[in-house]
Amino acid sequence: MSFNNLGLSKPILRAIEEQGYTTPTPIQKQAIPIVLAKKDVLAGAQTGTGKTAGFTLPLLQMLSDAPKETGKRKVKALILTPTRELAAQVADNVHAYGKYLPFKSTVIFGGVGSNPQIQTLKRGVDIIIATPGRLLDLESQGYIDFSTIEFFVLDEADRMLDMGFIHDIKKVLAKLPKKRQNLLFSATFSNEIKALADKLLNKPELIEVARRNTSSESVTQHVYPVDRERKRELLSHLISSNNWQQVLVFTRTKHGANRLTEQLGKDGITAAAIHGNKSQTARTKALAHFKAGTVRVLVATDIAARGIDIDQLPHVVNYELPNVPEDYVHRIGRTGRAGNEGDAISLVCVDEVKLLRDIEKLMKKDVQKVREPGFDVNPDIKAEPIQQKSRGRQQQRKKSAHDGQTEHNHRRPRPNKPRSSRFGSNRQGNS
Ligand code: AMP
Repeated sequence: MSFNNLGLSKPILRAIEEQGYTTPTPIQKQAIPIVLAKKDVLAGAQTGTGKTAGFTLPLLQMLSDAPKETGKRKVKALILTPTRELAAQVADNVHAYGKYLPFKSTVIFGGVGSNPQIQTLKRGVDIIIATPGRLLDLESQGYIDFSTIEFFVLDEADRMLDMGFIHDIKKVLAKLPKKRQNLLFSATFSNEIKALADKLLNKPELIEVARRNTSSESVTQHVYPVDRERKRELLSHLISSNNWQQVLVFTRTKHGANRLTEQLGKDGITAAAIHGNKSQTARTKALAHFKAGTVRVLVATDIAARGIDIDQLPHVVNYELPNVPEDYVHRIGRTGRAGNEGDAISLVCVDEVKLLRDIEKLMKKDVQKVREPGFDVNPDIKAEPIQQKSRGRQQQRKKSAHDGQTEHNHRRPRPNKPRSSRFGSNRQGNS
């Protein structure tokens, strides 16, 4: 099947062709006709499935089909995303697919000066892609009029809730006109998401492309059991001995990300960190260097890395396992995208055995354990509680969550009790 049969006009098809897409992905095949039929959609899809084009292509088509209006542009579509990175990426997509159309879009997020955003809004835009905090801020100052919005997308809704955005979402919803089309995208479906969907959507069509709460099939996954103090050494060894050139590494804290980046540098491996304490400019620069290949390792916290779109990212490393099992699925979803093979490894020490078990339970499968010669686990080391936060940062959490900068999950805090259980029963030996 090609894009030609989906009801998209020539200028859009031309832009798609220039992107090099020949066949619509399953989510695009399903979503495009439904959205064009002006129905609400509840979509279960992770990043990497092509979901962004799944909603931006029909949105652009509908804007094209609408009768032309004179005077200043009115905001017709609002796309809400949890992070600035994702907002910027969605905006890039809207821009690329709408290249041959006359619409104007803009991206609104915090952490950068608001003046340029205000100036763009004053000139008039058709589409806004935004994170909630700055959007509400500019709306309350009278720079955005929500009353003309006809099309609303909540992207990565599960992550929005994780980041504590529910009140902001409700505030936005309360200000939108009653008559509008709504799309909700989420990688996972908790009861909170279902409740939000009930409130937001009107007789939605359900689309689900990736199986619920399971990890992408095109990603091979391995766990390397390792002593807590030898993780950095093992990581450097794996990168060097396998000659990995582009590796996205996840740490649990911002402090941990900085420290690991420095240590990798000392091992002669170029690395950069991205997390919420870095300025937007520093984050964009680090990502650009990583994409260009001048930086070999990008060390990121969950939130900063959310939605990062890197074509053919071959390796994802969980330097530390996430506290929330769903985050593991999101992390490894950075690789193995759009039909490419991906490789996700996790360095797991004795403190994280319970976290690993929770992840395996969620995915309904065990991850294969691999022993790296020279890195045998010392059975005398006892489990210790996992440090949850970068030191001294707890006070900032509340504030930064509002700005979309938090690195932590507000959902279901999981106690990490020291445990005596080890990898024993799951171990599958060398491979
Ligand atoms: P997304 O799930 O929206 O983050 O998209 C994941 C990646 O797939 C992005 O790099 C897109 O550019 C790419 N992509 C989207 N649609 C297609 C398609 N039909 N064919 C090939 N690549 C695509």
